[in-house]
Amino acid sequence: MQVNPQQLDYFTGARSRKVVLCKNPTHYPLRAGVLFSTWPMDSTRNDREFMQTALESARSAEQSGEVPIGAVVVLDGRIVSRAGNRTITDCDPAGHAEIIALREAALEIKNYRLLGATVYVTIEPCAMCAGAMIQARIARLVYGADDAKAGAVRSCFSILEHEKLNHRVEVTSGVLADECAALLKSFFAARR
Ligand code: ZN
Repeated sequence: MQVNPQQLDYFTGARSRKVVLCKNPTHYPLRAGVLFSTWPMDSTRNDREFMQTALESARSAEQSGEVPIGAVVVLDGRIVSRAGNRTITDCDPAGHAEIIALREAALEIKNYRLLGATVYVTIEPCAMCAGAMIQARIARLVYGADDAKAGAVRSCFSILEHEKLNHRVEVTSGVLADECAALLKSFFAARR
């Protein structure tokens, strides 16, 4: 796999760089302007910051009556899209946060291959979303809490590392896992 040198900087935090949010206001209903004024931060801290943004999208989804799951697509240290679940709102079984975020990111960069992209999602992706990440050729997945019932990264299936696939996705799990899981638990507890 070709590695974008800028992306290496992102992972290692080796260079100072300014990161500006995408100008599309629909992606940033909660805040605008510069997300981070300086670069680098260590990648663990970056991961937590981007996961916080995914959590904001998850909370927005909850306010619309959706299952609170949020996703963010980051390319070269810049957020190119973010989304919460929209299955009920759109009456769409494929309306998971990751799918919507991937679609919006592809439209934003005008390429359905999101080479070098990192997807942040609050909960371990399902089989559909993991499959879409393979199709989009993302470089990295960062997720919060495991999903014992439908997770397709390691809980129920291990789609991203299936031996027959020649695309590999780097995976980091457990980022803000407690917050991500608590959001989901309280959502379902309130409905029992
Ligand atoms: Zn999914």
